[in-house]
Amino acid sequence: MNLSDFHLTIQLIDNIDAGVVLLDRSYTVQAWNTFMQAYSGISAEQIMGKNLFDVVPGLPYDWLKKKIASTFKLRTRTFSCWEDRPYIFDFKNFSPVTGGSVEMYQNMTLTPLKSLTGEYSYVCMTIYDVSDTAKSKKQLSETNAQLTHLSITDGLTQLYNRGHWERCLEEEFERCRQRQTPSTLVMFDIDHFKKVNDTFGHVAGDAVIKNISVMLRKAKRKNDLAGRYGGEEFAVILPETTSELTSYFAERLRARVDESSVKIDLREIGVTISLGICEWAPWMKHYNQWLACADEALYRSKQGGRNRSTVFITQRESAPHKMSLT
Ligand code: GH3
Ligand code: MG
Ligand code: MG
Repeated sequence: MNLSDFHLTIQLIDNIDAGVVLLDRSYTVQAWNTFMQAYSGISAEQIMGKNLFDVVPGLPYDWLKKKIASTFKLRTRTFSCWEDRPYIFDFKNFSPVTGGSVEMYQNMTLTPLKSLTGEYSYVCMTIYDVSDTAKSKKQLSETNAQLTHLSITDGLTQLYNRGHWERCLEEEFERCRQRQTPSTLVMFDIDHFKKVNDTFGHVAGDAVIKNISVMLRKAKRKNDLAGRYGGEEFAVILPETTSELTSYFAERLRARVDESSVKIDLREIGVTISLGICEWAPWMKHYNQWLACADEALYRSKQGGRNRSTVFITQRESAPHKMSLT
């Protein structure tokens, strides 16, 4: 190669829109292009002939050494993707949105290079700025997460909506059938809710529904699955819980609702709830039967005078007569 070729090659490397670093086997820097100088603030004069790890702070020392070692050993290119390791060099990009600096996401390629003697004595590290790709991919997954949340959540109460809650029930039903472990269902409904709407209006009615959902969220455990089953009907699955234990939960919630009230335009609105409890039983063929038994127990609470909870005794009773079998 003559001097003019060499000059051209250097210009070429300097003008690539990617970082180029040439290292020998002892990590001594043999080339450090303009991209690397611009983002690291370390000039070629400062780093050439020196150990990369001595001059550049914060590099993933052990990981990078292993990666370089395998590049030499396999004599083939190796890669690093931003999704596994967001960046190798702690570089910043200017963000037009925030007006500040943001971490530069990087892909890296390591290419083994032969010296004139034919030995693989060098490795070329290429650093690509993939911040735009990373940003749009992250935004897309955030949007997808938001969409998923919206599609399974009830807007007023932020509990699961009926569709999603029923899918959870179906899954729990299958889990019970496979493992034969206890699991209990609670259905509850606000008592004389029509009166609330008639007396205070629908907006006040909505506030009452919302207040009950807040109490439900506070009373339930993390793994319990709570949903808004209908207008003023709620449903909760308590996995790994017997109906006896669920009774405590139901009674605690009932008492809290009974004691609480919602203040609207200086008026206190108090309501009560009636609950139906049913533990999964091996005779059940479809989750609808489980649902129907809990509903039957809720109906009995209403019949019995409201503001109470009733347990459907699955061992002694069979399917309730009003239930439709599917
Ligand atoms: P019961 O004790 O027998 O349950 O009497 P109830 O008056 O509560 O009777 P029911 O459960 O059948 O009443 C449901 C009422 O709830 C009818 C409907 O106007 C009202 N409702 C349903 N969804 C909503 C809602 O999202 N917001 C408001 N404000 N009212 C609703
Ligand atoms: Mg109702
Ligand atoms: Mg009601």
